[in-house]
Amino acid sequence: MAAELFFKSIEELGALLEAKQLSATELMRTVIARRQAVDGRVKAFNSSDDADALAQAAASDARRAAGQARGPLEGIPVGLKDVIAVAGQPLTASSKMLANFVSPYDATVTVNLKKAGAIVWGRLNCDEFAMGSSTENSAFGPTANPWDLARVPGGSSGGSAAALAAGEVCATLGSDTGGSIRQPAALCGVVGLKPTYGLVSRYGLAAFASSLDQIGPLTRTVADAALMLGAIAGHDPHDSTSFKAEIPDYRAELKKRQGPWRLGIPKEYFGAGLDPAVGAAVEQAIAFYRAQGCTIKEVSLPHTQFCLDTYYIIATAEASSNLARYDGIRYGHRAKGAKDGVDLYAQSRAEGFGPEVKRRIILGTYVLSSGYYDAYYLRAQKVRTLIRQDFLKAYHEVDALLTPTSPMPAFRLGEKSDPLALYLCDIYTIGVNLAGLPALSLPCGFTPAGLPIGLQLIGQPFREADLLAMAHTYEQAHDWHTKHPSL
Ligand code: GLN
Repeated sequence: MAAELFFKSIEELGALLEAKQLSATELMRTVIARRQAVDGRVKAFNSSDDADALAQAAASDARRAAGQARGPLEGIPVGLKDVIAVAGQPLTASSKMLANFVSPYDATVTVNLKKAGAIVWGRLNCDEFAMGSSTENSAFGPTANPWDLARVPGGSSGGSAAALAAGEVCATLGSDTGGSIRQPAALCGVVGLKPTYGLVSRYGLAAFASSLDQIGPLTRTVADAALMLGAIAGHDPHDSTSFKAEIPDYRAELKKRQGPWRLGIPKEYFGAGLDPAVGAAVEQAIAFYRAQGCTIKEVSLPHTQFCLDTYYIIATAEASSNLARYDGIRYGHRAKGAKDGVDLYAQSRAEGFGPEVKRRIILGTYVLSSGYYDAYYLRAQKVRTLIRQDFLKAYHEVDALLTPTSPMPAFRLGEKSDPLALYLCDIYTIGVNLAGLPALSLPCGFTPAGLPIGLQLIGQPFREADLLAMAHTYEQAHDWHTKHPSL
């Protein structure tokens, strides 16, 4: 049976729209109805402006009728993680601190999506300020995994992954500081791409850790990820870390790049703590690439053992500085009845931030404080260089690395109450952010209990076209992406 409309890929929908067998307005109504039917259980949305989305859909239909369709995203509803600014829409970062904040401007990715004809709709749940791996740190309550509503969708972009997997939207954007696009993509059975640091503008992204944050797409297929990346990537004068890279036609490149590739298997990524079903699925993916004629080579990333410590020093240090702006005066929550200015800061922040955010601000302030700076922050920066060098050295021998995305499939809501247990979810993803590399997660099977498993491909800087082609090759030969949760 053909997939329901709301489970179709951007490419399939684009063909229907182009053939005038479907209008953007009909498509928008379909996803709005789907959201109404299932989001009471999935809880992926923090808010949505349906009237605005239908107005954008009508405008898209008018453009198409006038022969002015803007490309492959024309008329496609795209949902955004609630940390990405859309002018006139709420931006909460799933925090009480920003519960009533409305963005005065569009993020650059939002501008780019609109320019490409996409319908920007829906504010998707996440961990507060993107800090977490389960979306349980949201001030608005957790999102459920559409494959098993008693389980987490991963995080921090859990709403972006769950909304997509549940058919509530056709593609989404998330942000990835230590795995927040790839890990929820893996746990919800969709594709998630974290671009090279600097490829996609961070302007208009609520900052968590600025040297690690990247925005990227979550999609049903690799080809859709190529289309989305093509729309959002590119230099932006508003972001001083944005790189002047040539943006290829990623979709067209998928066909041109056929391999065979040299793939590295980092031995440190297959150690203790890896769920056996996840390990077995990844082994099968390795066997697939070998059968395709790829060279498979074991490699070593010897500083992997320091990734977690390094990340939680650098990320918290940057977070403590970035989140200083929420002072109760310029934006966000303002406490009532403060005695004086200092009391106003303290009370507003005490009331506005949740426990995980406070933990990170305290940790980050500590590692930056005089007397500890050299011992922690400076040392972490040096180790970060060593971690990056591990990857670059491996790339002398191989084109990309292949690993599990997450050591475990979706766990139960409430199961991991210890912060450290949650931090361990990211052991295979954070090295990529520390090294600034692109990486993609795509579905590679299911556990015996029917939970999705993700395969991670880690590429070379600004070589997203190769990364997407490698993933596409795997996807073309498997049908995991055609399976959907029954809700
Ligand atoms: N889970 C990691 C953290 O809590 C990564 C989050 C992210 O990528 N935004 O920091």
